[in-house]
Amino acid sequence: MEKNLCFGLMRLPQKGDAVDLQAVCALADRFLEKGFCWFDTAKPYHGGNSEEIFRLAVSERHKRETFKLADKLSQNMLQEGETPRQFFEKQLERTGLDCFDRYLLHAMDAPKIAEADEKGYWEFLISLKKEGLAKSIGFSFHDTAEVLDKALAAHPEMDFVQLQINYADWESSGVQSRLCYETAEKYGKKVLVMEPVKGGMLAGLPEEAAKVLKALHPDWSIASWAIRFAAGLPQVETVLSGMSDQSQLLDNMAVMTDFSPLGERELSALEEVRTILEKIPQVPCTRCGYCLEHCPAELPIPNLLGVLNSSRLFGAEPARGSFNWYARKHKPSECLRCHACEKVCPQHLHIPEYMTELKESFE
Ligand code: SF4
Ligand code: SF4
Repeated sequence: MEKNLCFGLMRLPQKGDAVDLQAVCALADRFLEKGFCWFDTAKPYHGGNSEEIFRLAVSERHKRETFKLADKLSQNMLQEGETPRQFFEKQLERTGLDCFDRYLLHAMDAPKIAEADEKGYWEFLISLKKEGLAKSIGFSFHDTAEVLDKALAAHPEMDFVQLQINYADWESSGVQSRLCYETAEKYGKKVLVMEPVKGGMLAGLPEEAAKVLKALHPDWSIASWAIRFAAGLPQVETVLSGMSDQSQLLDNMAVMTDFSPLGERELSALEEVRTILEKIPQVPCTRCGYCLEHCPAELPIPNLLGVLNSSRLFGAEPARGSFNWYARKHKPSECLRCHACEKVCPQHLHIPEYMTELKESFE
């Protein structure tokens, strides 16, 4: 299968508080010059500006046949009374295009799948494809393999699924990279990989782990191992990377030009890295979600515990972006210490203490 690198427009270079358009143009130009073509955007990225930045940096400056764009129906961004068709038409306008090369239902999990079933969003995507407004359709996914299995069985018209796959989460009970990948494989779906470097965290491993990789290939960047791992999986067609500077762009393009998958020795080295990471104490949250409906502060407890685990492994700074996202509505400092969550948690986790740890690290 041909392997593509896709430029994710969610972590663009900044100048102060705004996106640095000139720097984005330079990155996009270089990407296209080297024969890469895929970009990925969505309404929520960069405070709602990512689609327009794509238009300014790419669609108004390059010929349509030289690039491809994936955009998404982000269910929680629809305004009151707005139809998905109206939302889609505004996206075409913002990006300056008359069709998308890929269109996805965004960040699907069990509740969003139920909402899409009820509101007919799957059928909407199918109609876009029939009308030629979306050349290929699918969904990005953030839940368990069991939920994915049901979604793929119920919606065989989807051409692909976009999954969180990285070597650190390959066996994790939370992200379930391997189980989700194998589920997609079972249904013969193309897999697109998001966050292969785990939001940049696998670019900065603890020293003991980095040494294992450097011993084998001193000239490879640590981040490139993560890209190579994800792209090397047989069912994976595209690896997305949110690139913020020229060095990341050049590194990723070098890996994906004439791509060759990792061999046995490299895969064993990654296994060793995973073993080192597993020794760092983690909060054993299984993401069952039982605590959620009992929390009067409406804290997204399993997601926040996921951030805490990442920060224990890679440090607080690399996990800050995820923290800001998950704590955008309610922050750990809003925990009332009512212990309602603990009473229903099958893992008997001391959740208020973890909320305090998060508050101290991030707020
Ligand atoms: S202790 Fe904190 S996290 Fe747990 S239910 Fe109460 S407010 Fe929510
Ligand atoms: S109930 Fe416990 S194990 Fe389940 S999601 Fe909440 S914290 Fe995690």
